Amino acid sequence: MTPGQLRQHLESLAAAGVLDIPRLQLEGLAASAEAATSVSQAAAEAQEVPAAQPPSATVGAAGWVALQPLDAAMLATRQQQLQTLGTEVASCRRCEELACGRRQTVFGAGSPAAKICFFGEAPGADEDATGEPFVGKAGQLLTKIIEACQLSREEVYILNVLKCRPPGNRKPLPDEVANCRDYFQQQLALIAPEVICCLGATSAQALLDTTESIGKLRGRWHRFGNAAVICTYHPSYLLRNPAAKRDVWDDMKTMMRHFGCEL
Ligand code: SF4
Repeated sequence: MTPGQLRQHLESLAAAGVLDIPRLQLEGLAASAEAATSVSQAAAEAQEVPAAQPPSATVGAAGWVALQPLDAAMLATRQQQLQTLGTEVASCRRCEELACGRRQTVFGAGSPAAKICFFGEAPGADEDATGEPFVGKAGQLLTKIIEACQLSREEVYILNVLKCRPPGNRKPLPDEVANCRDYFQQQLALIAPEVICCLGATSAQALLDTTESIGKLRGRWHRFGNAAVICTYHPSYLLRNPAAKRDVWDDMKTMMRHFGCEL
C-alpha cells in the first residue's frame, strides 16, 4: 500500500464510520506504506516501470485478486449476455405503475467478473435520472464503504432487486419483487459471484426467501446457490442512523475475511 493509498484508505474508513483502528493494525499499515515507498523509490532509481496488468489480474490494495480469472473470450461472452438481458429489462412493463413513472431502467454496474456483488433495493431519483445504481447520497456512502474494504466500484458489481424506481421511493411491493425476480436471478447467475452482500431487508428477504428482519439476518452467513451471502444495513438507513455504521463495518470485515483479507 502506497502512502497515497494509506491516506485514501484512512479517509474511507472515517467516512464509513470507522473511527478507531487498533494501534497494531495502524502500525502495520504504516509499515506497508513505508515499504511501498521504498520499493517505488528503488524502481524509480532503476527507471523500472512495472508492467500494466490486464483487468482480470488486478491485485487490489488488500493484496488479493478481486476479479474472477476469466479469459477475454469468457469475459466478452458474459458482457454480451448481460447486455442482452439489460436490453430486455429496458423494455419491460411487467409493473405498469413503475414502467409509467420511470425515466429509464437501472440494470446494474460494475465488473461482470466480480467476486462480490452488492445487492440493493431499488433505484431512487438520482439513479432513475442517470441509469446508474447507487449514485445518490446513499450510493456515495456505499462507494466509501467499498473503498474502505480496499476495493473499487469497478472491481465489484452493484445491482438492485427492482430495476425501476418506485414512486416517492416507497418500498417495493411483493408483486413488483416477484415480477423482477427473474431478472436479478439471471444477473446473479451470469456473474456467479463468490459473495453476495445484501443491503437492507428488501434485498435480503427477496434473495433468501424469508421474512426475517435484517437485524436477525446480519451477523451470520447464508447461501444462495453457489454464493455465500452476507446481509447488512442499507446505506440509506446509515444516513438516518449513523450509529449502525459500526455494525456494517463488522459485516464488511466478516465479508473480507472470507477472502483472507483482514481489514
Ligand atoms: S421493476 Fe422489474 S419487472 Fe417491474 S417493470 Fe421494472 S424491470 Fe419490469
